[in-house]
Amino acid sequence: MIALTFDDGPGPYTDKILDCLEKYNAKATFFVVGNRIGSYSAQLKREAQLGMEIGCHSWDHTQLTKLSESGISSQVFNTNNKVKAVAGVYPATLRPPYGSYNNLVKSVSKAPIIMWSIDTLDWKTKNADKTYNAVMENVRDGDIILMHDIHSATADAAVRLIPALIDAGYQLVTVSELGYYKKGGLKAGTVYSRII
Ligand code: ZN
Repeated sequence: MIALTFDDGPGPYTDKILDCLEKYNAKATFFVVGNRIGSYSAQLKREAQLGMEIGCHSWDHTQLTKLSESGISSQVFNTNNKVKAVAGVYPATLRPPYGSYNNLVKSVSKAPIIMWSIDTLDWKTKNADKTYNAVMENVRDGDIILMHDIHSATADAAVRLIPALIDAGYQLVTVSELGYYKKGGLKAGTVYSRII
């Protein structure tokens, strides 16, 4: 069981990834940036309609550890409220931008903090083969895999990865499903990278 995660969207390549997830009846988690929702509300709604998990990735990709309590609060809750208003679901998980968190982020967000166990570096290589290999050469049960749905090469990698991972015997689930099946649920203020 593994969790594919896509940060920084929604964006122009989100639909290509959703098409593939839908085709294979697979699930993934999208950690969205609040200020992108207005331009890509159709993609956000579709994520929810297909049973994908929508998590919070801040309002404008600010590093949350540089903010005060009220700053963190508006970054997280403005995003969560916007997701709820547009897609009808309220995010239950947080991936802080740059993977950067501290005790204040944990306590203010009141959410499980979702890191990752495989960093594909897709944002850096923008190379579908490298992203594909980063996953297939390293994947293990319980992995949380970091990708970004704002890059064309990532969408190209995802449409190869989804059937390949299923062929290899993995179930593709959301982060919260992974937490539920492995741990009986995710806890607010706890940091998760691989869930086994
Ligand atoms: Zn990000």
